[in-house]
Parts: sequence; structure tokens; C-alpha cells
Amino acid sequence: MREIKFFDYQSLFVPYKKDLLNIFEDVASRGAFILQEDLRKFEINIANYTGAKHAIGVGNATDALQLLFNANGLNRGDEVIFCSHTMIATASAIKFSGATPVPVEAGKDHLIEIESIKKAITKNTKAIVPTQLNGRVANMDEIIKIANDHNLDIYEDSAQALGAKFKNKFAGTFGVGGCISFYPAKIIGCFGDGGIVLCNDDEVAYKIRLLRDHGRDNSGNISIWGYNSRLDNLQAAFLDFFFKKYDDVISRRRNIARLYYKYLEGIQEILLPPHPDEDEFRRDVFQNFEIEANQRDELYNYLKKNKIGTLLQWGGKAVHEFRDLGFNHSLPNTERIMRRSILLPLNLSINEEDISYISKNIKKFYAKKN
Ligand SMILES: *Cc1c(COP(=O)(O)O)cnc(C)c1O
Repeated sequence: MREIKFFDYQSLFVPYKKDLLNIFEDVASRGAFILQEDLRKFEINIANYTGAKHAIGVGNATDALQLLFNANGLNRGDEVIFCSHTMIATASAIKFSGATPVPVEAGKDHLIEIESIKKAITKNTKAIVPTQLNGRVANMDEIIKIANDHNLDIYEDSAQALGAKFKNKFAGTFGVGGCISFYPAKIIGCFGDGGIVLCNDDEVAYKIRLLRDHGRDNSGNISIWGYNSRLDNLQAAFLDFFFKKYDDVISRRRNIARLYYKYLEGIQEILLPPHPDEDEFRRDVFQNFEIEANQRDELYNYLKKNKIGTLLQWGGKAVHEFRDLGFNHSLPNTERIMRRSILLPLNLSINEEDISYISKNIKKFYAKKN
């Protein structure tokens, strides 16, 4: 039987083995491990590509958010609005800055829902943190308007959205700043954890450069309490190598999404994410292909039995559903989405034949049900 993995971790290394070993030899021979030239080069390339004023390599995307919040002065008693269909990391970064994470609904496209942002605003609200989920940017015109009306800051959880655009502006560049994740299964992954801060504010960016390195400035002076969260120079060298082909990677991912449409359109029991060519104002980069499906759990098991790997994002739970963390919110639209959503494999290892095979199996599943 054919086997289609949800994500093939070896594919990060095996096809590029020779180049990657050369990079390892070069960097290691120079002894260039912490805050060296390769990292600076990668930061500049990411800043130039996204149009962010600053790009700062850090340990992971969760730290990136945390450092943004700390550097820009989120405080105890502040409330921060985020969409509950996100990774726990969005909320935990808010929490550890001292502020209160306030979850709101996801809309039809699974991104933060505009009306529920408005309803959640109180006199203590300080910021909105949209998650640019699945590599799609939320409607930033609307969010910027709300932020301006209520004097709120915008931070983006753009961990999944490097290269995604809304009206020609890149994810992570709409507000104070955003995070990008280089976790191995992200669109551009490294060999472990890694992340970068995108930031448009000179002062905040300067402070983040201190915060990620124990509070030290270039002279070695320490004027603020800091952390240790630096993107490894070696990882940055690997990432810079992968980044050279990044636009090609995006167009291949968008093509795979088009193929899913070709084969899955017309199945009544499922709902597809927005089509890549549906909206001339957006470039979605398809970190994930998240569909909604009737009898989702049974479909998951059926595909698993037929050796097709799928995934329930966040283990199938929205952030506010982790009641032990103190949430008591009811977000029925998000809960419905979480009960119905499933990620189909979308990575550069799968081809049209795989997609046709996956689609046939989904059709077979629903044919049996009827
Ligand atoms: C992956 C991810 C994160 C966390 O990224 P790390 O680099 O693993 O810290 C945060 N938010 C979202 C939406 C993610 O997908």
C-alpha cells in the first residue's frame, strides 16, 4: 500500500546533504557559533525580503513574541486580544509578559474574527495579536482601523506566514512587530529550534537585540535585565541556504493547494480553505492546508488506516479549551471549527499522484457513509 506521511523530517536534510555538510564544515572550521557574520547576513536578507526595518534572530518564535512584548512594555493588568485558534505559544507569551490573554473567535477562514475583537475591547485592552494562521494574513485594514480607533498596538503571530502578503505588505510588518518560526516542520525549517523577530520600531528593535543577549550592548555594558535567546549562527547559515529558493518554495506550495482544489472540489462533506487565486489582495503561503470535514474523527482514522498522514492542529483544541489554564470563555464558532478541522499533507515531498490518491480515499470514505 502506498504511504503518504504528513511530514517527512528527513526531507529537510537528505536531498541537500552535500551542500549542508559543506556549510557545516565552513562554519565550524571558522569557529563561528554565536552572533557571527552568517546570522547577520541572514537577518539582513530576511529584513530586505519582508520589508521589515529590523530582523533579529532569536531562539524560537515563542521567544520572538515574548521579547516583542517585553521590549514594548506590556504590563500586569493589560489585556491582549488574540484568536483562540492558535498555538498555545501566542497566549503563553502574553501571559509571561504579565498581561492577560483574552481569546476571541475565529472566522470563516479560521483567522481572527473582526466583530469579536470589537466586543472584547475594554478600558484595559492594550494590544491585538492576530495569528496569520496557515500562512494567510488576516484582514489587516480592519484590524488597523480598530487599533487606531482604540489606541491599541498590533503584534502579529506570523510564525506560520513568512512571505505571506496582504495588499502587497508582508506578514509580520503591519504593527510593532511579528515573529517567524523556523521549527523543522514550518515552511522554512532548521535542524532544531529557531526564530526571528520582524520589527518596525527602532527603539523596540534595539531593546530586543539587548534582551536576546543577556541585556548586553556592543560594548558589553548591561543596562537592562535580559534573556539568552539567540538564533545559532550555524542554523542561520543553513537557513540562509534554504532561503535562497524561498519564492520558488512558495509558488510550489500554492500549486499544491491548487491541485487539492482540482481533486477535492465538489465533495459536499468537506469545506476547503480559501483558494490561492481567490483574492487578488492576498498571497497565502499555505503553511497548512486545513479543511473542515463532516465526521472528522472517523475520516482521520480512515485515512490513517490507509497510511495517509493527517494532523489535527494544536491536537484539536483551541487555546481557551485548556480550562486548567483558567479560561472560562465560550467561543462556539471556534469550537465548531476545532471539531471539524483536519490538516492534509502539504509539503514539497508530495506530488499530483499523491493528491489524487488522497482525494480518492476521501471520496471512498464518504461513499461508504452514504
Ligand atoms: C509554530 C508556531 C509558534 C511557535 O513557534 P516556535 O518557533 O516553535 O516557538 C507560534 N505560533 C504559531 C501560530 C505557530 O504555528
